[in-house]
Amino acid sequence: MPVAPFKTIQNLINGQFQAPIDGHYMDNYEPATGQVYALTPESNERDLQQAVAAAEQAFPAWANTAAEDKAKVLHRLADLIESNQDDLAKAETIDNGKPITLAKNVDIYRAAANIRFFANALTQFSSESHAMEDVAINYTLRDPLGVVACISPWNLPLYLFTWKIAPALAAGNTVIAKPSEITPMTAYLFSELCVEAGLPAGVLNVLHGTGPSIGAPLTTHPKIKAISFTGGSSTGTAIKLATANQHKKLSLELGGKNPTLVFADCDFDRTVEQVARSAFANQGQICLCGSRIYIERSIYKKFLHALVKQVEQIKIGDPLLDDTQFGALVSKSHMQKVLSYITLAQQEGGQVLTGGQSISIAGRCKDGYFVQPTLISGLDNRCRTNQEEIFGPVCTLQPFDHDDEAVSYANDSAYGLAASIWSQDINRCHRIAKQLNTGIVWINCWLLRDLRTPFGGMKASGSGREGGLEALRFFTEPKNVCVQFNY
Ligand code: NAD
Repeated sequence: MPVAPFKTIQNLINGQFQAPIDGHYMDNYEPATGQVYALTPESNERDLQQAVAAAEQAFPAWANTAAEDKAKVLHRLADLIESNQDDLAKAETIDNGKPITLAKNVDIYRAAANIRFFANALTQFSSESHAMEDVAINYTLRDPLGVVACISPWNLPLYLFTWKIAPALAAGNTVIAKPSEITPMTAYLFSELCVEAGLPAGVLNVLHGTGPSIGAPLTTHPKIKAISFTGGSSTGTAIKLATANQHKKLSLELGGKNPTLVFADCDFDRTVEQVARSAFANQGQICLCGSRIYIERSIYKKFLHALVKQVEQIKIGDPLLDDTQFGALVSKSHMQKVLSYITLAQQEGGQVLTGGQSISIAGRCKDGYFVQPTLISGLDNRCRTNQEEIFGPVCTLQPFDHDDEAVSYANDSAYGLAASIWSQDINRCHRIAKQLNTGIVWINCWLLRDLRTPFGGMKASGSGREGGLEALRFFTEPKNVCVQFNY
């Protein structure tokens, strides 16, 4: 049975919580139990029209609100997230299936940090000026865009929702935000906190629903000036195509199939531990997880055995328990997709070294969506298992003989989001970091994040960058003003 009291989620439009106009709701499941525990609005264009009208009306006042006053509201919001950290973490775990310690220390912690970061950044944001010797001076104005859309996925629900909303609001835009229909709960709780923090009505509107019911109409609405989207690469393509003739600004953070490069001179024990973490954190459902593990041949067998041992120690269980390290996958259909890739890997000639099965956890989680962390060897780099994003707890291991081969395996992918390099030869690390076609490279670490750095990927992993000033630049329109001197 679910532990959460049954809830009916509402949209936030113009500062008011309201039911979807057409009254349609969808079941919301707790993945650890497989039980329905909430209802989510299936909003549509009628709800969207109201949200757009509210956001348009709120725009001039919010755009003209002094930077310090905008920052004050955002700091109050970050304070509220922090003071409600335990409740939000529990809600995230129930909604998503992730371990509660992860929800608390990563997801909810980062949601508050995102808001605070942009509350501070907006008071420091400046634009450029270019002098043309004695002839003229150019200065660049950076104005907010108007009404913008922020659309987020299910894997880091509140974390990624706030990562978009915070810079959009900080830059002076009004926002229509759509969380994933699979994990809507913390977005709803967050919208309550926005009202409590005193965010003026209409500045943030939160609409719940599916991609077809509300995501697609939101992105193509003519009043939406920019779309900040995180999700799958095929959805990113659909948004690009659907908006191609509308000339909107697009920031697309899409899928990944990230390589992990392990060299013989790595710090062995630490690398084993961190590679396991990078493969299976959040049940492998982080776009940055390293799912293709390449190991220098001279340590391949030793590393493989140590990694299998490490992975077999991961504690799988009820995600609401403090000592659980690995929880449920987000949905039944996602679990089936992940299991189908394990079958495919075996058909392609792979050997399952550990895991490979769905499991039932005794007690309240007996019907939950649990799949063991799975390591597979013996596959070719070009096979579907190594080329397609699985986005779950399934990783492959492959040996390589020299640096160039490691780089060519790593780059042999349609994706280009992130990579990690594990070696104590720092010159090699720098050289390889430069050669990798990914937007992010970690050397002897993984998921170490400084919010000032550009975040995003190349190729099918997206276009544009989030993070730091890049995000504030995305959510503003630069206008150059050139003034000729007359002296
Ligand atoms: P998804 O693309 O199915 O959905 C993402 C969001 O888009 C959801 O809110 C969904 O309702 C909405 N949506 C669906 N169709 C739409 C449409 N036609 N128009 C507008 N919105 C639409 O992705 P998902 O399954 O929720 O998330 C998993 C994917 O997200 C993986 O591919 C993962 O790699 C990627 N991801 C990327 C990053 C990154 O920063 N690059 C971070 C997290 C997740």
